[in-house]
Amino acid sequence: MYFLSMNNFRDCIYYKNVDLKNFCTIKIGGKAKHLFITYTTNALLKVCSYCHIHNIKYKVIGLGANLLFDDKGFNGAIIVNRSKHFLFKNNTLYVDSGAVLSNIISECTKRNLSGFEYFAGIPSTIGGGIVNSLGAFEHEFSNLVEYVICYKKSNLKKRIKIKKNECNFGYRTSLFKNNNYIITRIKFNLSFDNHNSIIERINLFLKKKTSTQPTNKLSAGSIFKRSNLIPSKVIDELGMKGKKIGGAEISIKHAGFIINNGNAKSKDVLDLIKYININVFNQLNQKFELEIEYVPF
Ligand SMILES: Cc1cc2nc3c(=O)[nH]c(=O)nc-3n(C[C@H](O)[C@H](O)[C@H](O)COP(=O)(O)OP(=O)(O)OC[C@H]3O[C@@H](n4cnc5c(N)ncnc54)[C@H](O)[C@@H]3O)c2cc1C
Repeated sequence: MYFLSMNNFRDCIYYKNVDLKNFCTIKIGGKAKHLFITYTTNALLKVCSYCHIHNIKYKVIGLGANLLFDDKGFNGAIIVNRSKHFLFKNNTLYVDSGAVLSNIISECTKRNLSGFEYFAGIPSTIGGGIVNSLGAFEHEFSNLVEYVICYKKSNLKKRIKIKKNECNFGYRTSLFKNNNYIITRIKFNLSFDNHNSIIERINLFLKKKTSTQPTNKLSAGSIFKRSNLIPSKVIDELGMKGKKIGGAEISIKHAGFIINNGNAKSKDVLDLIKYININVFNQLNQKFELEIEYVPF
């Protein structure tokens, strides 16, 4: 009943019992009990407050490029953040967390601003990139950050500004990783460069990515974090490349990726993860830590 009144919320669309596979890159997941798409920061915060007041479990997501939803779905509200307003002032960028990285790369290129081109080809919103401390080929997203505007889930009325050195950015982790914050806006510092050099770097990094990773297949990116071991190398050396369970497969192109061949279930992916870790443990007495985030029911 609560949700009938949501029609009154501006800049927000509400769906009941909707398939989560349509809201993540690996295209796996059962139904979310409630799903909101919010188009402004105001709408995002209103929906979060609404869920909080009505004691509904909720999770804000971007493109779902790092997520594995459960086959049973999500027994609460998924809030898809599509708030994408941005403003450039000289070499600084103020951008909403729901802006899509590839669009921001295009906007920067138009203005001869360098910084984001190393991340070309990575599916991400700006907010998701902050939470996960996105990085590629020795370049870190966090290096560009000046501060993050966010709200604690426990106090959605208080706007907080967190400076870069307080964001606890680490390898694919940050202060925001614990699901206790809602990120709304970020200030980035970029640098001016020659237009053609920026375009060359975009093409170079896109090529690096597409030639080494299964970017044309359904996945959630690298399954495991690097440690003293490089997961793709170990999986390859232990002969697990190409192993399939149900519709899930360890990519032949890059053994650090598990791909969905079209009809994979979250259980297939989780079983394949278990299979890899059992083998790695038996051979090397170590386990890999997940880089993707499994979202339970
Ligand atoms: C083909 C492919 C290649 C990839 N390559 C790379 C790579 O090279 N480097 C790399 O680092 N990653 C890579 N990834 C992983 C993925 O792109 C990143 O983790 C990305 O930053 C996820 O962004 P997202 O917007 O999809 O976030 P989501 O996956 O939607 O969410 C990630 C987490 O952030 C939280 N979150 C999202 N937005 C907010 C917000 N506004 N406030 C609070 N919490 C929020 C979510 O709740 C979730 O916990 C790849 C993925 C794919 C599919």
